[in-house]
Amino acid sequence: MKFGTAVNWPTFKTPEQRCPACRYELSATTAVQHDCSPSEGDLTVCIGCGAVLVFCDGLGLLVMESDAFAALPLDVQAKVHRVRAAVLFAGGKG
Ligand SMILES: [Zn+2]
Repeated sequence: MKFGTAVNWPTFKTPEQRCPACRYELSATTAVQHDCSPSEGDLTVCIGCGAVLVFCDGLGLLVMESDAFAALPLDVQAKVHRVRAAVLFAGGKG
């Protein structure tokens, strides 16, 4: 995965809500793994603060607990870390 290059990751509208970590207003998510809309249990990264969030019922967002994150497969953790790094490198939006 490269950042800063033209990619065609699909973006999906999500219910407007605030990041539970930083209160940044979120209303969309971009798929970085599959061309599929988000569903309960999927992970996302807040573009405001880089928090790892998980979609829950109704596409609400919860902060992912660190022990739950540590239980993820290492390749998934690595991908999330790359996305977080890109968000934080860009300075976030919060
Ligand atoms: Zn946030």
